[in-house]
Amino acid sequence: MESQNYVHRLVSGFQNGATSFIDGQITDDDVRMLLTITNSEKIYRLHLIDGNGRVFWSNIPDGLGQINTPSDLHAALQTGQSFFERVSVSEAEVSGIPAVAHKTDDGVDRVDREVNHEILPLTLDGKIVGAIERYQDVTTINTAWIDTIRWTFAVIGGLVSVAALFGLLRIHWASKERMATLKLHAETERAFLAEQLRVGREVRLLGELNEWLQSSKSLEELYAMVTRFMGHLLPEVAGSIYVYSNARDVLDGGCSWNGGALQPQIHPDDCWGLRRGRTYVNAAGEMTFKCTHARDEAATDSICIPFLAHGETVGMMHLRLPDGLGAEAFTNQRKLAQMCAEQISLAIANVRMRDELHHQATRDVLTGLFNRRYLMDRLHRRIERQADESFAIMSIDVDHFKAFNDAYGHEAGDEVLRVLGEMLSASCNAPEIACRMGGEEFILVLPNLAKDQAVERAEALRIAVNELCVHHAGNTLPPISVSVGVALYSGIGDASLDVLRQADEALYAAKSAGRNHVVVAELTPAATKSHVGLSSNTVTLKPNRRPMAAE
Ligand code: GH3
Ligand code: MG
Ligand code: MG
Repeated sequence: MESQNYVHRLVSGFQNGATSFIDGQITDDDVRMLLTITNSEKIYRLHLIDGNGRVFWSNIPDGLGQINTPSDLHAALQTGQSFFERVSVSEAEVSGIPAVAHKTDDGVDRVDREVNHEILPLTLDGKIVGAIERYQDVTTINTAWIDTIRWTFAVIGGLVSVAALFGLLRIHWASKERMATLKLHAETERAFLAEQLRVGREVRLLGELNEWLQSSKSLEELYAMVTRFMGHLLPEVAGSIYVYSNARDVLDGGCSWNGGALQPQIHPDDCWGLRRGRTYVNAAGEMTFKCTHARDEAATDSICIPFLAHGETVGMMHLRLPDGLGAEAFTNQRKLAQMCAEQISLAIANVRMRDELHHQATRDVLTGLFNRRYLMDRLHRRIERQADESFAIMSIDVDHFKAFNDAYGHEAGDEVLRVLGEMLSASCNAPEIACRMGGEEFILVLPNLAKDQAVERAEALRIAVNELCVHHAGNTLPPISVSVGVALYSGIGDASLDVLRQADEALYAAKSAGRNHVVVAELTPAATKSHVGLSSNTVTLKPNRRPMAAE
């Protein structure tokens, strides 16, 4: 029934309808319609057959005339029953193109298409006027489609492979990039760690340097510490330090390290760092001048860092940079050097202050001689050490000094005391010491002096005082005289302080004897702690000038 409908639907599309089968011809429009249908419905063979069983139109060139199954056609034309069969045919049969791909290995056509073969009779007014024979490819899965799918899969597979390859490459590149980043990171970390260690070491050394410097009591100690620490803190840099002398007219060479040149003295004007009051870089440049003290150095850059402490310049550190390391590349180490310089500056100032305080505590302001405190300290220490070397003590007192002051004024008296102090100081060579005990009284401590030598020195001193010529306020002051008491300690026992007292007693004896005298008291070893008066050995030297008051 469905076949009938199909045939009638098809034929109704012809311009002349079923009559075309009676006439055995169709129009061009009919042909176009049929070709469209055969293509769209996969009908690879379509025959229009007239009532006599003759094919009057076919969509294939050799289809006209007879059909392959005339008996089936005949039956259909006779009975009006449709003929149907399912046959298997080759690809070449369906496509009409013989192809090697459609042959088996034996050269036989491959039968791999399922085809419906139908003969559909056409009736007009109850009379069979013809039939339509059609071969329709009904293969469930079209091999071409399979091929297409295969190709599609192959292409997809290829694409997937390419994508996978690309993905792998991307992963490779990404991991390579990541490795490079990690490596860079590791290197940065390593550099950071090394820098931390370096800074840590520097901080530790700086701390230790500071601690040591704080405890230094003299410039010599300080120089030894600076030499040791700077050599470690800046191992590539040669350096030296200069410290202002007490008179502040020159700088004394202090110490040097790592082969740094050290001059005994430099003048403040020889250093631009000192003149400008800040760090100066001796580098090659159009607008720079080299410090005079560094003129003989090789062509490497050098730096002068002034030591500033409590608003005062106390010295200078000179650093000579190694070959190939310019001042600009020295930035990090320069900071370190600067920090060291700050600590050294303070330490120098502290040592200087300590010296100053010690000087003030042990020296007499007017004459610059040691004071009573210093003398007593030395004598006590001598007792503690139980030193057994012999020494002489001279107790010296200016005669009639009150009268001198009254006559010429206190300032003139001061000038006399100052000049006398200079003279006494000049007469002593270390370890001899000259002290002003107070007022117009002086003590000389003269180690390892025999009695004769002591007497000789005292007498010479007395005479020299007589001959002192002191000027004040444009006038020449009259000569003065001194009385001298000499006591000798033979080096046995611990009678240092007794000797001092005995020297005083000898001095009183000299005063009593008329002043401008030298009297010697001798301490016998047997009576080290007891009071000893003037012995029979007392030597009284006759004055060659009369005391002032007597004049
Ligand atoms: P004598 O010969 O007995 O030692 O008599 P003197 O006058 O020297 O002794 P005295 O102890 O009576 O007087 C000491 C004088 O020394 C009193 C004081 O005017 C003076 N004198 C003490 N210290 C200073 C000082 O620092 N400067 C000055 N100009 N005079 C001083
Ligand atoms: Mg006196
Ligand atoms: Mg006196």
